[in-house]
Amino acid sequence: MSGNEAKYIREAFETNWIAPLGPNVDAFERELAEYVGVNEAVALSSGTAAIHLALILLGVDKGDRVFCSSLTFVASANPILYQGAEPVFIDSEPETWNMSPVALKRALQDAAIEGKLPKAIIVVNLYGQSAKMNEIVALCNEFGVPMIEDAAESLGSTYKGKPSGTFGDFGIFSFNGNKIITTSGGGMLVTNDHDMAQKARFLATQARDPAQHYQHSKKGYNYRMSNILAGIGRAQLEVLDDRVQARRKIFENYVSELGSISGLLFMPELEGTRSNRWLTALTIDEEEAGLTVQSVLDRLAKENIEARPVWKPLHMQPLFKGSSFYAYSNEHNVARELFNRGICLPSGSSLSKSEQERITEAIKTEMKLNTLLKR
Ligand SMILES: *Cc1c(COP(=O)(O)O)cnc(C)c1O
Repeated sequence: MSGNEAKYIREAFETNWIAPLGPNVDAFERELAEYVGVNEAVALSSGTAAIHLALILLGVDKGDRVFCSSLTFVASANPILYQGAEPVFIDSEPETWNMSPVALKRALQDAAIEGKLPKAIIVVNLYGQSAKMNEIVALCNEFGVPMIEDAAESLGSTYKGKPSGTFGDFGIFSFNGNKIITTSGGGMLVTNDHDMAQKARFLATQARDPAQHYQHSKKGYNYRMSNILAGIGRAQLEVLDDRVQARRKIFENYVSELGSISGLLFMPELEGTRSNRWLTALTIDEEEAGLTVQSVLDRLAKENIEARPVWKPLHMQPLFKGSSFYAYSNEHNVARELFNRGICLPSGSSLSKSEQERITEAIKTEMKLNTLLKR
């Protein structure tokens, strides 16, 4: 927390707005819409709920196809299953670790020939880094398929100067506890389409028809954000830019401490883009570095430092067994390679310099031990 949260929560208590609507919800929507430069923002109970509503609003239904990045958290694709639709996973490319426009094009061409284009494409901006939006948006336009930008991890990032989350027909953000700003749990759906935003608000409040007597003609959801949590969100949004700066600095510090070790490759930042560096991620080439991801994870765990491998690609998950997958090329399955060699280091905005030193020292120690053993 940053300091101002209590003020907004107190306002909610003093005015007795303890509900999934109220002044903080309205203000948080307005302030976030302004921050990213869109017409409409709808505050919801989670980022997952935002993706789900986007799919519903795009008419995704049973048996429909939805394309989705493979290298991502399961929340990107679970709502496809909620709708009974069929996910098709698209591989990453090396320059952003995100959806490969080349693989996407192949998947779209095949789907067009089959006469079964997807109803939507969910494009993820992994660990804060924007996907190749120019290429992907051009393909979406060419094939006439709407895009949902999963910017859960990239709030505060930009692509060619334009805020992340604003490239699709819908964008979604998450304020889960682990994200760059948090409301403990929460999400936001953004769009420039006023009617769509109104429909999202309607669906998110049990789809109540405008009648006094609780009339319903559509299936609805209880997906709105509470006025208390929106208060937390408002205060968090005030410090978002500071958080981005802090996370970028943490990334730079890791690079300056570990970047010269051969075999370690930090996640790239595509030219013209600015990542919020939500997580510092890198790959370890086992032969070159004389280290494995597992040995680094084990060493850090021994020092009571929590680190994680990169997301296990969704096309490799038991949940999505049998789903189609379009690889980057015949030779390269980039998502799988990143999963096999990738690691995310502790990256919290409040990580101190000395804590970071403890982490980099542990990694260097592990390296020295490995080199000694090899001799
Ligand atoms: C966190 C996250 C989500 C889901 O957000 P919740 O608010 O936790 O539902 C979706 N996609 C990605 C890529 C995420 O990291």
